[in-house]
Amino acid sequence: MMNCKEATRMVSEGLDRELALGEKFRLRLHLLICDYCRNFSRQGEFLRRAARSAAKRKADD
Ligand SMILES: [Zn+2]
Repeated sequence: MMNCKEATRMVSEGLDRELALGEKFRLRLHLLICDYCRNFSRQGEFLRRAARSAAKRKADD
């Protein structure tokens, strides 16, 4: 089973690159049982979206 350290690292990496199928699967399993990492993952996606829309807004100016 993946531990929290690995899981948070996977989440961060997943924001930068496409994770391998096995990695995604292992991460999913961990997120199912771990509130902390689920939150971390949600925040990561939120931050990425926010950064993206900020960049887009800048490009639209
Ligand atoms: Zn965890």
